[in-house]
Amino acid sequence: MPDELLLRLRNFQEDYFPRHQQRFQDLVAQGQHPKTLFIGCSDSRLVPYLLTGAAPGDLFIVRNVGAFVPPYDQSHGLHGTMAAIEFAVLSLKVEQIIVCGHSHCGAIRTAYEGAPDEAVALKAWLRLADEALLPVQPTREALHRTEQRAVVLQLERLMDYPMVRRAVEAGHLTLHGWHYVIENGEVHVFDAERGAFVPASESTHSGTGPYPPYIENDGQILVD
Ligand SMILES: [Zn+2]
Repeated sequence: MPDELLLRLRNFQEDYFPRHQQRFQDLVAQGQHPKTLFIGCSDSRLVPYLLTGAAPGDLFIVRNVGAFVPPYDQSHGLHGTMAAIEFAVLSLKVEQIIVCGHSHCGAIRTAYEGAPDEAVALKAWLRLADEALLPVQPTREALHRTEQRAVVLQLERLMDYPMVRRAVEAGHLTLHGWHYVIENGEVHVFDAERGAFVPASESTHSGTGPYPPYIENDGQILVD
């Protein structure tokens, strides 16, 4: 009796693949040329291909707990997210980087509440949200705001990657901060000039910045 995963694998090959065979074969013959690096939270409810209407070959994706970008450093550690950013910018020469957080993010909640003691790596990893945390009780609203602040914080960190900054300043690369509200099906895009996230239905662009120092709409400077 085949298990469910095996059935799905067979289904992909027998049903989906024949209908899209040419595209996959072109992508093999010509190689991949994705224009977008998508840095997203690992959350199962965030489905990048659905959100963006992308097809195979369109998105180079790195996902981790919280959609975090580690600080650029020279420690030569085993930094998977950092390696993906370097590869996407230097080798694939992507034109856009999207950092996508979301509502009800377990990473942000756990950053407030603390991870289990045994989760040593998770504890260390969640420190990447520290600067986004607010000195208040983590209410729904505070969590929502923290999720958005965390996205901007990662965009700031991206600008510390020399190859990212170079490409941005040369006009070859744009940075986009997104906050996906699962229950509404709407992405709010970060607008650096307004210092705020704007619903995609009202925005005139898919996100900008942050290129100048980021100041929130209440005047607070998030990152010096
Ligand atoms: Zn999440």
